[in-house]
Amino acid sequence: MQTADNRKRLVEERRAVLEYLALKALANRKDVLQALYDYLVNNESPSEASKKYNVQKAQLKSAAYQLVSKARPPLVVKLLKLAMPFLLEIEPIVEEGYCKICHTPIHTNHAEPHIAVKHQDIIKKTALELEEKIKASLKAKKLVRATN
Ligand SMILES: [Zn+2]
Repeated sequence: MQTADNRKRLVEERRAVLEYLALKALANRKDVLQALYDYLVNNESPSEASKKYNVQKAQLKSAAYQLVSKARPPLVVKLLKLAMPFLLEIEPIVEEGYCKICHTPIHTNHAEPHIAVKHQDIIKKTALELEEKIKASLKAKKLVRATN
């Protein structure tokens, strides 16, 4: 039972992290995602990473805190690393103060809560797509390794 519980926990943690990352991309906060990447994956200092992408340091720290409260830190780092290329391809739904889904003006600062409340289905769908793309890329890497 222990292993089944662990597996279930891993699935839940993975989903929570991917949904959080998907939300940031849908809200057009790729600057925050890139700062998170340099901070958590490349081990740069929060000051350095936030300055590079013009993100507030407090905002970067709070995003990092939210992420590591969703899953164990090594899992967060692994998922961020694997998901990054696909996150950058996600088309934002709130852009330039406007939500493309419900066609209403949304202040940039309210983009994330708006999407989290009104467009939960899109977050879930985007997170699932991320999961599929990560799985496919891992499989492709294994194939390359096997044939080399
Ligand atoms: Zn909307």
